[in-house]
Amino acid sequence: MKRVYNFAAGPAALPLSVLEKAKEELTDFGGCGMSVMEISHRSAPFQAVADDAEARLRRLLAIPDNYKVLFLQGGASMQFDMLPMNLMHDTKRAYYLNTGNFAKKSAKEAKLFGEVLIPASSEEIGYTALPALTAEMFSEPADYVHITYNNTIFGTTFHKLPEVGDKVLAADMTSCILSEPVNVSDYGVIYAGAQKNLGPAGLTVVIIREDLIGLNENLPAMLDYAVYAKNNSMYNTPPTFAIYMMDLVLEWLEDLGGVPAIYEINKRKAAALYAYLDSSKLFRGIVTKKEDRSIMSVTFTTGDKALDTRFCKEAEAAGLCNLKGHRVAGGMRASIYNAVSEEAVQALIAFMADFEKNNI
Ligand SMILES: *Cc1c(COP(=O)(O)O)cnc(C)c1O
Repeated sequence: MKRVYNFAAGPAALPLSVLEKAKEELTDFGGCGMSVMEISHRSAPFQAVADDAEARLRRLLAIPDNYKVLFLQGGASMQFDMLPMNLMHDTKRAYYLNTGNFAKKSAKEAKLFGEVLIPASSEEIGYTALPALTAEMFSEPADYVHITYNNTIFGTTFHKLPEVGDKVLAADMTSCILSEPVNVSDYGVIYAGAQKNLGPAGLTVVIIREDLIGLNENLPAMLDYAVYAKNNSMYNTPPTFAIYMMDLVLEWLEDLGGVPAIYEINKRKAAALYAYLDSSKLFRGIVTKKEDRSIMSVTFTTGDKALDTRFCKEAEAAGLCNLKGHRVAGGMRASIYNAVSEEAVQALIAFMADFEKNNI
């Protein structure tokens, strides 16, 4: 069997033990003589999987009882629409911080449903740092404040939350959920596409405070949080295989020691890679403010396009895959999600050091 080191941004690496367990159970799930993909979403064996996945997520994130956990489809991008449709109800106004490509897209969609205030943006500096924030920026009445917690494409992250007072905070955590401890009660809504830190593509998780459900009436059923909440995410057929795979990933994470344990590992991985970048004479990190650096998405470059391209090509040949940066950011990006091991990061650093020696 050949397995490469996979630094893909999403869909991304999954733990090998998870894939192996899925393979083992693929043709006969739990002795039922069918795969988990072939059984009814309303059957007892599948309901047990969905319940287990929710229970694990609740334990891992210490989700308070007054929050619902919803399993949806449509990716994080569908939440760019569902969030304003469901939450813009009173002032019909919301704050969006423009900190990256996905942040910008989410603001653009919200404009379809109400007024969008953009108190701060780092677009003019190519999103290479987070904009400076003050509490005064959020002084207008608004239904919520939206942040993209980890800016996947550019490699910045909110290590400190904006001071939004008593306003509802909504966060896109697609590329960082379960990578570090978060206090769920700081948020009204947390959402994440599964394909980065939770499992395969096709599933989106929404964690939402109960009083924020059902604020707007007459929404299309499939775009109404209340419909998912009322039907335990089974108003229609949920993405059963993706939920099953997430359950296995969550089991893997719990066995590892949960979020505090993976956070220590993630910090070590990021610290090692950034330390190398800061000492390198060939490579440099793209994020300009060290305090904004992401521990999940590490962006870097040699500053020379042709050399960057050659680096990615040679890395690929050496089994270090998917290091090319996003097309709008250029350079390189190592996505070092939960399932990317310390060994993978050490292999990357060793390869970069070698490449540096040969090209300086
Ligand atoms: C990947 C990503 C998205 C897009 O997710 P889809 O599931 O493809 O819609 C949105 N936001 C962030 C922060 C992401 O990393």
